Amino acid sequence: MTELMDYDEAVARFDPVIGLEVHVELSTATKMFDSAPVTFGAEPNTQVTPVSLGLPGALPVVNRTAVEYAVRLGLALGCQIAETCRFARKNYFYPDVPKNFQTSQSDEPIAFDGHLDVELADGTVFRVEIERAHMEEDAGKNTHVGGSTGRIHGAEYSLVDYNRAGVPLVEIVTRPLAGVGERAPEVAAAYVEHLREIVRALGISEARMERGNVRADVNVSLRPSPSAPLGTRTETKNVNSFRSIERAVRYEIRRQAAVLAAGESVVQETRHWHEDSGETSSGRVKSDAEDYRYFPEPDLLPIVCSPDWVDGIRASLPELPADRRRRLKAEWGASDLEMQEMANAGALGLIEETIGAGAAAGDARKWWMGELSRLANARGVELGELGVSAADVADVSGRVRSGELNDQLARQVFEGVLAGEGSPGEVISRRGLVLVSDDGALLAAIDDAIAANPGVVASIQGGRVQAIGALVGGVMKATRGQADAARVKELIAQKLGI
Ligand code: ADP
Ligand code: MG
Repeated sequence: MTELMDYDEAVARFDPVIGLEVHVELSTATKMFDSAPVTFGAEPNTQVTPVSLGLPGALPVVNRTAVEYAVRLGLALGCQIAETCRFARKNYFYPDVPKNFQTSQSDEPIAFDGHLDVELADGTVFRVEIERAHMEEDAGKNTHVGGSTGRIHGAEYSLVDYNRAGVPLVEIVTRPLAGVGERAPEVAAAYVEHLREIVRALGISEARMERGNVRADVNVSLRPSPSAPLGTRTETKNVNSFRSIERAVRYEIRRQAAVLAAGESVVQETRHWHEDSGETSSGRVKSDAEDYRYFPEPDLLPIVCSPDWVDGIRASLPELPADRRRRLKAEWGASDLEMQEMANAGALGLIEETIGAGAAAGDARKWWMGELSRLANARGVELGELGVSAADVADVSGRVRSGELNDQLARQVFEGVLAGEGSPGEVISRRGLVLVSDDGALLAAIDDAIAANPGVVASIQGGRVQAIGALVGGVMKATRGQADAARVKELIAQKLGI
């Protein structure tokens, strides 16, 4: 059994330092150095060329779009872009790397010295310094069959699929991040979340965590105090969800704290993350960079990024997510908490679009965060997949504003749209959803309600004015929600002389 220290005690006694290495798979049409397509889920070993397979004599050619994507990301992270940089061979043998080396960048990354401001749920901002973002290629995928763990140990045989071999990657490496204290797990997860949001906004990756488009290696070390030199780190590999990143950091802090408190030292090693048990386990003792015998790739020319080309890319960058959130917050007059809620609900874009389609900001927020969130929850889908468009919401909220519908009827319109009854206009005419504003029609329903509820009437006349709600409810029910509740209340009050 691995000893773990209680988390609060661990962060009281030690200062955690974290570092993240995030691999992002680029969504180019073809691979980093060859013409094989980048696809997901194809039959094994069908998306390959002699280059992906590392066959003798096959020569790589750099994918220009992949370089452009790497520059886009570098710029979005505030990095400097190298005017010239080279690829290098990182030499090691593993069956999923058929060339016996990975083409990567070592001391000449395309982008370096950047930063990303990470905002936590409560509005606290931590600046994460980016050491570099470099280009490299993905490895193939090994599948170990016959064992209980899916790992090579205990497996009967292994299969290898080279479809992923050569898919372009950018690896973003942070500097050691200190000063986050007990919030280290949260910051690590939020950093990767922000990064994923950025690559999505840049349109350079599908950024689907569950497909491994974004994979994080999580480095953690502890030291006795913030003024002490950095402690020995462990690197937990391939942690592929935000929640797992948070859990893995927390686990390593607790484990390392117990090791250090027992007077032992932390081993510098890679570790595996186990999603089911929420634990990490020892991987391999970490090799130093020298072991890889990096040397410049002789089959590829250096990359030259002219300042003009880079400026052109800079000018074409979209508004970044954090800037957009700041702008929307100001435009909508929303609080941090409200912005957070809207972001968590995946509603920011929908609300923005609804306003673009003519709705008032308050109305767009009210419908998406209220009734439509409720409907999405009930169906177990994301807001964006609900099947109500921003235009529909703008249409309905306009009709409420003009007095054509009340909220209750509007809800019925959304129900109809979701039931596939057509556009809001079609639902309204098919279901005959019109607000009864003609007092005559209302008065008949009011007379019925009064006649049917003598007890309620007596109690209102006896001073319990709030009991009027029961009569209003009766009228609303009788008119299938098509009455204006405020007007009904007025008319009842007049009738009863209160
Ligand atoms: P490697 O390839 O050996 O993993 P990298 O330089 O690519 O080395 O990445 C190391 C990562 O670990 C970086 O994010 C770095 O900031 C982080 N790191 C380095 N030293 C420490 C430490 N003592 N504690 C926590 N993180 C560290
Ligand atoms: Mg690394």
